[in-house]
Amino acid sequence: MLVMKFGGTSVGDATRFASVAQIIREAKSRDEQVVVVVSAMSGVTNSLIRAARAAAEGDEATCRRIGEELLTLHRDTCEALIAHAGERRDVCWFIEDRLRDVERFCRSLTVLRELTVRGQDAVSSIGEKLSAHILAAHLREQGTRAQAVDATEIIVTDDHFGAANPLMIETRERVRGKLLPLLEQGVVPILTGYIGATAEGVTTTLGRGGSDYTAAIVGACLDADEVWIWTDVDGILTADPNIVSQARPLRELSYVEAAELACFGAEVLHPKTIKPLEERGIPLRIVNSFNPTDPGTLIVKKPQRTPRHVQAIISTKGLSLIGVAGNGDAWTPEVAARALSRLAREGVDVLMFTQSFSERQLNLLVRQGDMEHGLKALQREFQGELERGVIARLGVQYPVATISVVGGPGEDGLGIVPKTFAALGKHQTKVISIAQASLEYNVSFVVTEDQVDSTVRLIHEELGLGNFNAPPL
Ligand code: ASP
Ligand code: MG
Repeated sequence: MLVMKFGGTSVGDATRFASVAQIIREAKSRDEQVVVVVSAMSGVTNSLIRAARAAAEGDEATCRRIGEELLTLHRDTCEALIAHAGERRDVCWFIEDRLRDVERFCRSLTVLRELTVRGQDAVSSIGEKLSAHILAAHLREQGTRAQAVDATEIIVTDDHFGAANPLMIETRERVRGKLLPLLEQGVVPILTGYIGATAEGVTTTLGRGGSDYTAAIVGACLDADEVWIWTDVDGILTADPNIVSQARPLRELSYVEAAELACFGAEVLHPKTIKPLEERGIPLRIVNSFNPTDPGTLIVKKPQRTPRHVQAIISTKGLSLIGVAGNGDAWTPEVAARALSRLAREGVDVLMFTQSFSERQLNLLVRQGDMEHGLKALQREFQGELERGVIARLGVQYPVATISVVGGPGEDGLGIVPKTFAALGKHQTKVISIAQASLEYNVSFVVTEDQVDSTVRLIHEELGLGNFNAPPL
């Protein structure tokens, strides 16, 4: 049995949906039992979160515009994919109903003028429901039996909204109870990624990029043979192939190595994905839905290749820095604690933070889509301090990006950190912020977005990662 997860770019438009359906049909034709986990169409979760936040600010116009855009996007996709009038009408009704739920919810947020993370989860969970229904209908039309399954019925979580944790005993029972009968009847379940619900039935999300985690949870519950994550690049590579043309795929990784890499770029793989699979020894493959014949990356307990430290560069664009600048001696570490907990309560993920005591400056790295909301939240949190001058100012810098270099020493015995810094010096990259763990196996830093590509290329070269003669990874 295979669990296959398709991310947002893999279902970005009608053509992509059709390729996904083709991949599923091929797996089925090999006599595989297949469970599919699907993300929202690319950009949809961001739009839903933007709508909820606008509503809570009283901005009904933005909210309405987003609702209309989402309706058009999904309706057009259905038109292109589903020819059968009855099937198309049913899916369109479902889409309209769910988007009406969003509208109703946003209206109540406008009245309350408050958005909790719980409320944000309720709205941001809708995208996956829409894509799962479209994909299931398209498959049925092509002659493959398929059924959309809402994960709020089977993934039982705690109430840690925005980053909920599955309750595995309850989840296992429900996943098996719902999905095994479908599989026995030859039906492909199309499960919504990213979302779940508490035992009381309140919708939760597993955190941004959480559909990978859904696939791992379901794979573990069903004791699947393998879990495949379909993405838009050839697996995990030594660097982003869109930046470095010589980037090489890491063909095999251990669970430990993959978990380490995932910590530095949730774009590659959600960091919580590895553990449920490692516990049951289920292999994980990262494969490219744009290039399905490429073998991608296989993640297992003990890779076959000769032992050698894996080195990779992970870069993430589209980020913003929020700076909290203190004013002399009045600055206390409590400011950092309050800033972090306020942002957590507002559903804003802080991807990295650094504090320089001499400058009394706290830098908080967030996704660009979270910047405005995060800044407003901090302005409210520190209103008193700003008035009294304890905090000099709140500022933002964007677009910025992170570059993380991960891995042990190379064949020459030299660690990655000195080599990385030497490369930065050569290139005269202006580093805005740095974070390093106590071990010498990784270093992450923030640069302006226009410096990312050239910096990543240079570090890749300095570390010898594109080296044609290097042993296969
Ligand atoms: N749609 C969700 C997100 O954008 C989950 C995912 O794509 O994995 O974060
Ligand atoms: Mg992802």
